[in-house]
Parts: sequence; structure tokens; C-alpha cells
Amino acid sequence: MYFFSWPDDILARLFAAFDARQCYRPATWRARCPMPSHSRGDPARSLSIWLSCDRRWIGIGCWACRGRCGGHGYKADIVSMVGLTMGDLFQPRLDENGAYDWRNKKARPHIQPKIVAVYPYTDENGEVLYEKVRYEPKDFRLRRPDGHWGIEGVRRVPFQLCELLAKPAWPILYLEGEKDVLTAESLGLLATCVMEGGSGSGWDHDSPYPVYFQDRRVVVIPDEDAAGLNQAAKVVGALVLGGAASVRLAHLPGLEYRKTHGADLTTWVEAGGTRDELIAVIQSCKEWRPS
Ligand SMILES: [Zn+2]
Repeated sequence: MYFFSWPDDILARLFAAFDARQCYRPATWRARCPMPSHSRGDPARSLSIWLSCDRRWIGIGCWACRGRCGGHGYKADIVSMVGLTMGDLFQPRLDENGAYDWRNKKARPHIQPKIVAVYPYTDENGEVLYEKVRYEPKDFRLRRPDGHWGIEGVRRVPFQLCELLAKPAWPILYLEGEKDVLTAESLGLLATCVMEGGSGSGWDHDSPYPVYFQDRRVVVIPDEDAAGLNQAAKVVGALVLGGAASVRLAHLPGLEYRKTHGADLTTWVEAGGTRDELIAVIQSCKEWRPS
């Protein structure tokens, strides 16, 4: 069985079958427990249904049945009454594009995410400030050098800051992700990105990043999708206002625009794009100036 929108389909099914009511707590509902030990259809609504804070799983539990059965086995009985399994209560895994893979049966739950890359962000002296950890299925988390997750209050810097400082005369390619930065470096170019990636959220008015691009020539190369183009406009604006010497917006030739998961520099290089072509593209695009 697959679902087009997890968790809504699952919740709708449970709500309808067990007459659920929203509880005073957020994302929590009280329903009539269907187990036979409840008399008169469980008027007390002993069955709790809730959605986890990270929206990755649906919890169910009946305080009465838990005590009576001394275990969790009754939960499987409850979900089986509406044609579900316990696995359906967990978010399906993502496909290779990072989208929910509703149709792939093998993609059903409990996939332990694997770390596939760690990208260190360092200060001017090469001290690691934080690391961006990439998982498969595609997901990112940030951690501090002491192993703590999250970077609340930690100074934010562009990726490969030491490289940027070591080559002050070089133009900088601004890309959406660390993988693309490494691709550009493999072509012998200077490149960077920020830990917020393609969301553009790091480039608001109080952004910590423009200062690192003062008096530098910057070429912004967005992913060819809606989010990529939106964030590129934001980045270009912030760079111009922040005092970059010049800012260009480059589109890689032959990349098909897609609404989401658009192609990026890595895709382009994998499809045969070369360093010379890339440089030609950059030189052919006009400098961005405030009008
Ligand atoms: Zn019960």
C-alpha cells in the first residue's frame, strides 16, 4: 500500500475509523479505542493519536490497553483494523532527488540514514567552526567540532574561507552546495557556498556573508530551478549592496530548467561540461549593476 501524502492519508484513515477529536495539545487527537475490552465504544476516548514534532512518525497509544496488555502489541491490532501496518506510521524514505518516494515499496520506513560526506567550515586560521553532514537518503545536519548538533550562536562563514583568502585576486564562483564547490575546485577554480545552501535564507538583510565578498569579483551560478533562481537574485542583491567589486549571474548552457531539483554544476560537468566552456560562459555574461 502506498500513500500520496504522508501523514495526512494515514491520519485521515485513523480519524475516520476511530472518531477522533482534536486535543488541546497541538498535533494530538483523542479517539475511541476499538479494542474489545472498552465498554460502550470507549466514550472516554482513551486512544491518543499524535504526530511527532519532526513530523516523521505518528504515535498511537491507549492508556487503558497498555495497562491491560502490558505491552505494545495492541497497537498493531488497532492499525490493522484500518488496513495499515505499524510501518505505515513512519514517514516513507526519500528518493534520490530528496523527494518522497510514495510508490517505491522497498522505500518503506526504518531506513537508517547513512553519513556520506562531511563538509568542514573553518575560520581564517583553518579552525573548524562547524561541519555540515550530508546523509543518504538526502538530508543535512550541522554539528559543532565538539560533536554537538546545531550551531546556535556559532559564527557563520562561507565554505572554503581559507581558500578565498589565499587567492585574493581570483574571481569567486558562488554555488548552491558544497558538492558543487568541490566540483569547481576539481576544475581548478575558486568556489564557495554557504551552509544554508539553495534556500537563500542566509542572505537576508542581516546576513553575515557579504563582508567576505567585499572588493571581490563574484559569479553566482544557481541551480536551474525555481528555488535556485530565487535565491540567486537575493544573493546577487546582497553582494552588490555589500560592496563586491563585480557580480555576475551565470547560467550554464544546455541545462533544462525544472521546477524542483534542477540541474547544477556537478550535473553539468558530469554531462561533459568543461573548464574552458565554463570560463567562456562566465566571460560572456554581463556584470550586474544596481540600476
Ligand atoms: Zn484501548
